[in-house]
Amino acid sequence: MTETRKLPEHTPMTQFPAAGSELLINGQPLSRIAARVGRTPFYAYDRSLLSARVAQLRAALPAEVKLHFAMKANPMPALVCHMATLVDGIDVASAGELMVALDVGADPQEISFAGPGKTDAELHQAVAAGILVNVESFREVPILAAAQQALGLPARVAVRVNPDFELKSSGMKMGGGPKQFGVDAEQVPELLAAIGRAELAFEGFHLFAGSQNLKPEAIVEAQQKSFALACRLAEDAPSPVRFLNLGGGFGIPYFPGEQPLDLAPIGANLADIVAQAKAALPHAEIVIELGRYLVGEAGVYVARVLDKKVSRGHTYLVTDGGLHHHLSASGNFGQVIRKNYPAAIGNRMDATVQETVSVVGPLCTPLDLLADRMNLAAAEPGDLVVIYQSGAYGATASPQRFLGHPAVTEVLI
Ligand SMILES: *Cc1c(COP(=O)(O)O)cnc(C)c1O
Repeated sequence: MTETRKLPEHTPMTQFPAAGSELLINGQPLSRIAARVGRTPFYAYDRSLLSARVAQLRAALPAEVKLHFAMKANPMPALVCHMATLVDGIDVASAGELMVALDVGADPQEISFAGPGKTDAELHQAVAAGILVNVESFREVPILAAAQQALGLPARVAVRVNPDFELKSSGMKMGGGPKQFGVDAEQVPELLAAIGRAELAFEGFHLFAGSQNLKPEAIVEAQQKSFALACRLAEDAPSPVRFLNLGGGFGIPYFPGEQPLDLAPIGANLADIVAQAKAALPHAEIVIELGRYLVGEAGVYVARVLDKKVSRGHTYLVTDGGLHHHLSASGNFGQVIRKNYPAAIGNRMDATVQETVSVVGPLCTPLDLLADRMNLAAAEPGDLVVIYQSGAYGATASPQRFLGHPAVTEVLI
């Protein structure tokens, strides 16, 4: 007897229900959304799912842990505005993002700014805005001191630490070993002394070990090690630690075989850290910062089928959207092996006939591939291809000028 091995499948995309043939985004049929947007392709983000995700995190994590939104994952102003009402703070990575965060009314006290190449002008803007700067280089200290002097305002700083460990099983490692991010843990005492001499307003530490992690045990280990490292470094701090950002890195399932992250062990671990902090860092507020996990599953990318072609037995759906709008779904944003994002034909959700097709875009490159040999509802020109898990690192993480096609539209439903 031969054993039949089932191929791994995508985790079901149950966050978006269907009514008859139509996928619903916050209760609205996709074809109607496409009609009111007036054009394809577009990204659609679901407000109710954004709110539900924050509520789910609040329920799973201790009440003392503050939740920040890392807005580089999705800087659409209307979405940032919605998120600002839900989370405790916004993390920005440029003066451009800072402008959006301030425009949508985020409290400057709860905005922090990280990034390895902050310009002098950006550092002055940060001090003028009254936000917290995560210092990532000795170079930033005298610039912040000058801004403090010139503006007569405190330069609020935390030290971004490049830890002496790595986040295991992370999609993208951003700490440990040699990195352009933060200051190596072993150099931090010297940086703290410089911050003290410059009389900057020291508030605490920022550690971010990596991104897109689906293994709770790896996240738990990184958070414990980060906390222990912060406690050691606090001994050299010029004033008590009031802010401790332990990073995030919570992943979402994109590819066949991947399962949603189990928050329970992470919540239990953070409760343990909160309890330890009461004794070790009694003035510290514990923060985690999340981008993708907050917004990624609440968004879809929608492109219209322009043509259906068969080439030597292989069926292609040629759409008006592609890698110029959604680089990560094409597999060209950090992935090592190309895999398909979950996808559907959003106006044929009740179809019974399926076809194996590849969904491609209009660009003159074989890299412009949104789905490679996937089983989808049999589709025709005019139908709407939906790429799920598209709420993070989409429009602004894609080379929209490549080949000169129109830019993508974004809507918050
Ligand atoms: C990119 C980034 C984040 C967000 O990462 P996600 O994987 O989207 O959660 C958080 N913090 C810092 C410092 C970052 O650079």
